[in-house]
Amino acid sequence: PSMPVVELLHWHTQRKALPARRRGAHKGETGRLLVAGGYAGMSGAIRLAGEAALRCGTGLVRLVSHASHVHWLNLTRPELMTATFPEFSQWHWCDALVTGPGLGRNDWSQALMAAALNAGKPMVIDADALHLLQGKAPVQAVLTPHSGEAATLLRCTAAEIETNRLAAVQELREQTGAVVVLKGAGTLIAGPSGTALCPHGNPGMASGGMGDLLSGIIGAFLAQGLAPESAARLGVCLHACAGDMAAAQGMTGMLASDLLYPVRSLINQTD
Ligand code: AMP
Ligand code: MG
Repeated sequence: PSMPVVELLHWHTQRKALPARRRGAHKGETGRLLVAGGYAGMSGAIRLAGEAALRCGTGLVRLVSHASHVHWLNLTRPELMTATFPEFSQWHWCDALVTGPGLGRNDWSQALMAAALNAGKPMVIDADALHLLQGKAPVQAVLTPHSGEAATLLRCTAAEIETNRLAAVQELREQTGAVVVLKGAGTLIAGPSGTALCPHGNPGMASGGMGDLLSGIIGAFLAQGLAPESAARLGVCLHACAGDMAAAQGMTGMLASDLLYPVRSLINQTD
């Protein structure tokens, strides 16, 4: 039997997909992203995703979250705009959305997820939004499960996912029709042109917020007009390589926000 073909992703080739910036560019044409989620106690998740999106060149990023804490989010990063849900209604303002980080799984979370889906825009579906997703994913969706979330979607255990990650990512693609990113050591991406593997990244990345950062990075590239599969491949590779750069200071104690400077320097490399 023939071996499945899996493409390896490296930064020196992936970086060619980075969106170009015109000399006369203005913030309205470099992408508008909504990041929806962050229930009480988990607002840091969208704060990280939002900042990552800004560092990836998104023109405007707005966090949509709960009124109890949304104001803190732009006090600590004033470039981020905010809005409260359920009051917010400008879903069509954006070019793309990220939903799931810190979203929770309560009535508020479900209503927020439904409103986000209704926008009909390219969308990253992560974390709790994966638990709330039912059946087929919307068109132009990128799903970013870790093995636990993949297990929920496939109704099996995380250990079963880990024993055959390639089969799992392909099964998820078949079931949902979306571009699927199966995160972990050797992240796999299944999309219309096949399956790709990112060999970069390290166990220092096994810490809270790391996945939220990835959803913001992929969202940034969706908002800047990349197709879902290109945004997923570029975003995964950038995130993992930034993780490897950050690990130069040691893997233990590495924080998700430590990847933000490496992300920016990788994007702006000129050699
Ligand atoms: P999450 O579990 O949602 O916070 O996402 C964790 C992120 O860090 C994903 O992008 C993973 O691929 C990455 N990550 C976590 N642990 C490792 C590891 N041992 N090796 C490589 N990447 C990892
Ligand atoms: Mg996560």
